[in-house]
Amino acid sequence: MTNGSQWWDQSWNPVTGCTMVSEGCANCYAKAMHERFMQSTMFEKVVLHPERLSKIDKTKPKVIFVDSMSDLFHEAVPFEFISEVFSVMQRNPLHTFVVLTKRAKRMFEYFMWEREFNPEWKLFYPLENVWLGVTAENQERANERIPLLLKTPAKYRFVSVEPMLESVDLTKIKWARIAVDKTNYDFFGAPAPDEIWSLRNVLDRRPGDEYNRPLIGVDFVICGGESGPGARLMRPEWARALRDQCLQSDVPFFFKQWGAWVPDMLNDYVMVRSHMTGIGRKLDGVEWNYLPWRKPAKPVLVENQLSFAEVK
Ligand code: SF4
Repeated sequence: MTNGSQWWDQSWNPVTGCTMVSEGCANCYAKAMHERFMQSTMFEKVVLHPERLSKIDKTKPKVIFVDSMSDLFHEAVPFEFISEVFSVMQRNPLHTFVVLTKRAKRMFEYFMWEREFNPEWKLFYPLENVWLGVTAENQERANERIPLLLKTPAKYRFVSVEPMLESVDLTKIKWARIAVDKTNYDFFGAPAPDEIWSLRNVLDRRPGDEYNRPLIGVDFVICGGESGPGARLMRPEWARALRDQCLQSDVPFFFKQWGAWVPDMLNDYVMVRSHMTGIGRKLDGVEWNYLPWRKPAKPVLVENQLSFAEVK
């Protein structure tokens, strides 16, 4: 999946193992870690760990990255098991859970399934403490996955452009604007034919707008280059353009890392190995560090909620 302890406190892996699904997987960090430390099994063997469902530390609020060593929405993970994972998240409102996938279609299908077979759907979804995100390593994957993310019920959505393999223009993505009924959280109304917008409209959601315009938007964008052996470079102009799209739309932007290659401090057009400069995580002299999911957790009266398991 991804390397990046800057943006989460703890990883939680109820599933391990994965298979490549797109260009961003070529130098998979999870596979590299697996091969380094867990040589007894193949990384490509997807393993469910039901015993880990109860292993959530409850001492203090944390940002928990779900399945840093896999993809929760891998085809080999049954919907019933994914449902158990979301049930754990629902019962732990102290924590903020971050779920990142390259399998946006299966994530959408899972929520369709949940909606159909869970009669108490509207009581729980979308979960206040869960961020759902997709990886968009290039324009093709952005075009494919972001519209699916926007159709998926979620309180908060984010896009991870990492490893950034080419320029990604979020304002070019066509998507179907979907009316959201805030009362019953029905996210599946069919869009009218004239409601095809570009993502500029998605990004252009300002505070307060959600109550006036029923837009579903992207709440956060992460950008990063690739690290490790064989890493592909990220051009500075690609990162700058993505930053500027976010700035123009008031969407938080997090610059995670340059990766293995960084621009030479004297000449932007020359990329050099990262250990040869002191540029660190700066983009045009600035560290873009804001993480919107680090805001204080809202108090939730757990005793007033039925558990997800109870209503099934
Ligand atoms: S989806 Fe993520 S975990 Fe799976 S192979 Fe690709 S990068 Fe690795």
